[in-house]
Order: sequence, then C-alpha cells, then structure tokens
Amino acid sequence: MGLREVMLEELRDLYSAENQLVKALPKLAKAAQDEELQQSFSEHLEETTGQVERLKEVFSLLEEKPTGKHCKGMEGLIEEGKEAIDEEEEGEAYDIGLIGAAARVEHYEIAGYTAVIAMLKGLGLEEAAEPLVETLNEENEALEKLESKLQELIVASAESAVSEDAESEEADAVAAGKAGPAKNSRSGNKRREVSVRN
Ligand code: FE
Ligand code: ZN
Ligand code: FE
Repeated sequence: MGLREVMLEELRDLYSAENQLVKALPKLAKAAQDEELQQSFSEHLEETTGQVERLKEVFSLLEEKPTGKHCKGMEGLIEEGKEAIDEEEEGEAYDIGLIGAAARVEHYEIAGYTAVIAMLKGLGLEEAAEPLVETLNEENEALEKLESKLQELIVASAESAVSEDAESEEADAVAAGKAGPAKNSRSGNKRREVSVRN
C-alpha cells in the first residue's frame, strides 16, 4: 500500500469521524449546563457540518469516494462522551467532565488532520490540502475554547467548594445551638439538579 492509499484511508477515517460527530455534538450541547459551553458545542456542530462538506470537496478533487471506512477511534471517544453525559455530578464538575471528553475528540481530530495534510503535501497535492488546513485551524480553535472554559470552571468550582465549606460550618453551628437558623444560607449557591438529558 503506497502513500496515496494510506492517505485515502486516513481521509476516509476522518470523514467517518466527522459524520459521527455531527450526531454526537447535539447531545453534548444539550447536556452542557454552562450557557457558553452549550453555545460553543453548538457552534462547533455547525463547523463540523462544514468540515464534512470540505472533506467531500477534497475527495472530489482527488476523484475518490469518501465512504467505506468506520472510525473506531471516534466511536470509542463518543462512547466515553456518553459516559460523561451520564455522570451524576452537577454544576461545574459536570461540565468539566464534558470538556474532558470533548477535548479528547479535538486532539484526535487534530492528529488526524495534521497527518493527512502532511501526506497530501508530500504527494504534491497542495490544492487538496488547503481546505483541510482551514478545518485544522477550526479544530485548534475549538480546543482552545474548551481549555479556557475548563480553566474558568475549575476556578469557579474551587470557589463554590469554599462557600460550601463555609455553609457546612454554619450548619454545624446551628446543630450545636450556637447560632440562629441559617436563613438563606444557600441563596448564593448556583447548584442545580442536572436536567433530563439525551
Ligand atoms: Fe471536526
Ligand atoms: Zn479512526
Ligand atoms: Fe472538532
């Protein structure tokens, strides 16, 4: 199997991967509790449908068919994403789990596109590589967004852990009769039940 055949296998793998993601990303968007995170999953879904179109364009430039391969790697990553969706956590911790799964997906795609772009260039197929460079940029930006949201949620979860500690001290004090009823003690607390998913 020569370089062109290996490149085509990689491209078909990516085509399968992106198509699987078109189905999986709405579930992540629906599950996300943070509005901005929800938004970025939805935006990346839109980009992903465009990425599928770019792959079709590349296949037609190469006069090849995009179908015939199932990406098992993406299937596994999406399977793990479902585990994150089914977690019983709430608030920041829940979203942090979703980001962990989604960031793995972006890393996987970045590796795939980086390899296939290098192969296309090696084969002198610069024109076919071009749209995939655009896709690679989108994947990198998606990963960066996830990483900055991850940092933000980690800080927020540390803050709510501190306020929960303060609350439980207050509760202990109430239980010991050292303080009056803790009025509105949870009012500033944004914890909420995880809504129905899927
Ligand atoms: Fe993608
Ligand atoms: Zn694969
Ligand atoms: Fe992506």
